[in-house]
This record gives sequence, C-alpha cells and structure tokens, in this order.
Amino acid sequence: MPAKPKFYLTTPIYYTNGLPHIGHTYTTVVADVIRRYKRMRGYEVVMTTGTDEHGVNVERAAKNAGIPESEFVAKMADAWRALWLELGISADEFVRTTDLQHVRTVQWLFKLCRENGYVYKGHYTGQYCIYDNAFVNDAKPGDNCPDCGRPTETLTEENYFFKLSAFQKPLLDFYKKNPDFIQPESRKNEILTFVEGGLKDLSITRTTIRWGIPVPGEEPHVFYVWFDALTAYLSAVGGPDYEKRGMWPADLHLVGKDIIRFHTVYWPAFLMAAMLPIPKQVWAHGWFLMDASKMSKSKGNVVLPRPIANMLGMDALRYFLLREVVFGQDGNFSYDALVTRYNSDLANGLGNLASRTAAMIEKNFGGIIPKTGKLQPQDETLARETQTAIGNVLDYFEKLNFARALESLWSVIATADKYLTTEKPWSLGDSELDLQRKATVLATTAELLRIVTVLAHPVLPDSTAKIWKLLGQPGSVSAVELDGLRWGQLAAGVPLGKPHTLFPRLEKSEAIERIESMANEELNPTAPPTAAPAVAPGATTGAAAAAAPAASEKIAIEDFAKVEMRVGQIKTAERIVGADKLLKLTVDIGTEIRQICAGIAQFYEPDSLIGRKVAVVTNLAPRKLRGVESNGMIVAASVGPEGRPVLAGFLEDVEVGARLK
Ligand SMILES: [Zn+2]
Repeated sequence: MPAKPKFYLTTPIYYTNGLPHIGHTYTTVVADVIRRYKRMRGYEVVMTTGTDEHGVNVERAAKNAGIPESEFVAKMADAWRALWLELGISADEFVRTTDLQHVRTVQWLFKLCRENGYVYKGHYTGQYCIYDNAFVNDAKPGDNCPDCGRPTETLTEENYFFKLSAFQKPLLDFYKKNPDFIQPESRKNEILTFVEGGLKDLSITRTTIRWGIPVPGEEPHVFYVWFDALTAYLSAVGGPDYEKRGMWPADLHLVGKDIIRFHTVYWPAFLMAAMLPIPKQVWAHGWFLMDASKMSKSKGNVVLPRPIANMLGMDALRYFLLREVVFGQDGNFSYDALVTRYNSDLANGLGNLASRTAAMIEKNFGGIIPKTGKLQPQDETLARETQTAIGNVLDYFEKLNFARALESLWSVIATADKYLTTEKPWSLGDSELDLQRKATVLATTAELLRIVTVLAHPVLPDSTAKIWKLLGQPGSVSAVELDGLRWGQLAAGVPLGKPHTLFPRLEKSEAIERIESMANEELNPTAPPTAAPAVAPGATTGAAAAAAPAASEKIAIEDFAKVEMRVGQIKTAERIVGADKLLKLTVDIGTEIRQICAGIAQFYEPDSLIGRKVAVVTNLAPRKLRGVESNGMIVAASVGPEGRPVLAGFLEDVEVGARLK
C-alpha cells in the first residue's frame, strides 16, 4: 500500500500569561476542522498547538499567583489543554516551550545559525523598567513603563543578534518562487513592502530575563521571544531528528494577522540561516470584533468559549465561528447572532431534518431504512443537486473558505425541507403504490442526510457522529473517505439507531442571559482570592467551580478591604429591551455618576427606584450585560428559593459617596 501523503499544520503557540478567549478558540477550531477534513481526504495529518511559557510576563504572573514559574506554567498548560478537549479539539501534538525536547531544538537551531555565520554578539540599547526588570519595547527615553507607570531608564546590554539584514533578497526571491506562501493575498503586499523597506538585525537573546531557555555556555543569556516560540513548530515533530518523523516542513501555519510578520519574515529567515526546509504556507486570519472594536480584557468585552459551549454545545460554537466570518477577514461577534444562528441553522435546520426523517421512518417502516422504488424526476433532481454540492463543498474546504462550504451544505438541507413539503410523505396512504412512494421519498431524504452528515463532520464532530448512528450506518463517520463520497451509498434495510435530541430550540434572551452570567462568573470568580487568582478563572475545574456555591471560608480583613463599597443614589432607571430581568440604572456615587445594570427588573418598578439610596460595589471591573456596560454592582439580598433580590438600604440618612466598611 502506498504511504499516505502527509499534512502538517499548526496553531500559534499561545502565550500563557492568560487563558484562552474566543480569538484563540477560533484559530484552534479552524485547525481542528482542517485536521479532520484532511484525514477524511486520506492524509496522514499532524496538528500542533501548545503554550509559550517563557518571558517576563510569565515571571510576573507567577509572582502574582505566589507560585514558582514552573508550577504556574504547568497549571496554565493543563488549563489550555483541558479547554481544547472540551471543545472537541484533538491536537496530535501539544508542545510546551519548557519541554526538554523544545529546549534542545532551540539550542540546536541557534548552533546551526551561528555555525553558518548568521549570529553575532552585539549590544542592545532600550528603555528599561528596573521595577519590572524588563525592557519596554518601542519606548523612547523619557517614556514611562506601561505596566507600573514609573519612569524607564536607558540601558544597554550585551545580546546575540541574528543577521536578518542578510535575508532581504533571499526572502523576496522566496516569496516570488512561492506565491502561495503568504495568505490571504491581501496580507502579501504588507509583508513585501516591509521586507523591501530593508531589514534590521534582530536581537535574539537577553541577559535581563531569568525565565527563559539558556544559551549554552553563555549564561546569563536566554533566548528572547520569537527565536524560542517559533521553533516550537519544529520541536513538535522531532526537532533535530525531524527527518525521522517526516512531517517537516509544515504545510500550514495558521496565525492571527498581528503575528504574520514574525511567521513570514523572521521564521523563514531563521530556517534559511540554518539551511532547514521552509514551511509551505502561512495563513493569517482576522479578528472577531465586539461592537466593531477589538476584544480585550481591559475593555471588558472579551468573549469566553466555555460558557457558550456549556449552553449551546461545542458543535454550535464551532459551527458559528466557521459560518459567521469569511476566513481571513474580520468578523463581528454578537451573542444575538450566535443564538439566532443556532436556532435557525442547527435546531430548525440540521437537527430538525434528522429528527423528522428518523421519526417518519420509525412510524412508516418500523425503524428500518427503506429501499427506493421507482424514481420520479424530482427525486433525480435532488440527487443530482446533492452530488454537485459534494464537489462544491470539498472545493470550498480546500480553499479554507469555511463560510461558503457551510452555506452550500445548508442550502442542501433547505432543498430537502422543500422536497418534503412538496412530496408530503405523511399524506400518503397504505396502498402498495403509496407505500412505495413513501419509501422512495424517505430513503431519498435519508441519503441526503447521510451526505450532509459526512460533509459536516469536520465542523460538527459530535452531532454528526450521533446522526450517523441514528441512520444506522456502519463504522464511524470520521472513517468515511470524502473522495469516495457519492449519492446512492446509503445502507438500506438497516435499523435506525437511538434518537438523541441534537439541538433543542432555545429562547434567545434567556440563553444569552445564561451565557453572560456564566461568563461573568468566569471573569470575576467569587471564589476566595487565596486560590491562586491568576489561574482560577476557567482553570481545569472552571465550570464546576463556578457552579458550586461560594464556600463560606474565612477571609482576612485585607481581603474584605479590597472591595470598595459606597453609598449611591439612583438617578435614572429603565428597562432594557430584550432582557426581562435587567434594569439599566445611573447611580451617583459621590465622585461620579455610574451606569450600572441590575438584575432586579422583575421585582422593582423603574420609577419606584429613583432617588433611592443603595449600597454599590464601586471597584468591580466593568462588564457587559446584554451588550450594556455595567460599571459597578448594586448590593441586594437574595431571598427564597428563586433568589428574589431585595435591595440593601439605610434606615438613617447617609451622605452619597460614604464608604461602607
Ligand atoms: Zn514598570
């Protein structure tokens, strides 16, 4: 048997001073879809993801968590790995940059570059923060440190430099010879312009960072960011022994558009210097924007994947991410669009087609998939259209145009719905002729469903496996070869499997409220702060911990002092359209007027609240509830089993802005 063709793809190696949000999830889901798709096309696939665990930000985060760096990064790596598993992502290699194999690979790559004359010792001068022990990138003399606000000092240290300047022409030649190397096309000009403008040599080591891979025999030099992180792609598939594994060079690096330069300029230059094979393609995708601005933790508009997967299922999240944006462009994220798509495409679309097809076969043929009888022209049209769709969908997958692939696939589902509405198998009687017609219509629909199931499998691994079993088809859907997929391969005469509810319809506002409340829990955990706060949100136990009632552990007075509560006076109150439980309030807290959302709409009339004095938590990070910013929290008692809110108040007159202690 001939060896399978190989396909090696990677996600970025994510920096571990924080936990994954929807942006990381997007890239990683895309990689997983490609991995599953390529497998079904007969490739031997390796997909690598991992964690970038060195550098001063990790040093700092570990210090804040009060644990050694090695323990901190091990926890983070576990948390990332656990989340990917929850989202159905099964990477073949999870590389950590603290792995011994990786350390050896970086040192080996450095040795090769040095032997070939592309590394030299020089001096790096930059602005340095002595409190944070770190250079501040791009700062000029006189600038303050963005982390602590203290003045920076100009510092010169000895570094190793990589002769990037020597690779201007080789890189330009390489891009010309490999026109598909940088994708999408729109990113290519940006890189060409950058390289044509001339390349400066690159500092690749530091002596001021402690937590990094040592340069052998040159301590205290450690490797700096990119020389370390990029090399992980190679260490994942054998490092110095890459030829044995046979996976290098990578066929595809998936990256966010912010790091495309490092992947298309630095990385090929390092590899050229070491005389190693260069990856075939780098694909840069866009951002998910929230209200047209980039997500960030400080803006309070970060979207977390786990609450969505908990509420809608991992398949729904995967489907939405791939369906909603054209890969390579920016896309807007909104919970509204997410749940709308879930209901229309998954609950009413695929889920409904599967359950009604199975129910009709159950009712009319005792749960045995019938054989088709004499075909009518409309049956043949449906078969032809579906056969054509197979080619189109595979073509779009091949071009990484997932949105169009899914669009084509869902138009096949719409055709099936129309077919059933026209043919009305449920209105046919029990005559021999009617029974035959019923069998043909239902077998035709089941065959269409089988094909959709196979083609949707890379995106919806969990639900398509269930539909495959429901249709009683042999083996596993992931083992179906896409290149052999044809109309007419349905195994007839076999019994249906057990029905599952695939995508229950959801009430939109309720679903959004639940997702948002889980997300708020994860971002602002109520767990006691002693539990290593930098790791706690969304760590391996995230969902369970968030659901558990807050333990009544004792806290120190300093912990309580962290909560700033003040007397506020409600100035305005109004309902929020589409959110039955929320009121939007403006509250005077003495020093300013704040907008705060409170989940009390079912128990308090807005007008009755105006002028009322309340207790307000004023130093809570801003968050969004149903898209409305909430900057603070009104304190209320939670009464009875349904948790009826009762606002805390004051019996005596108190001054607005007074602190509660
Ligand atoms: Zn500083």
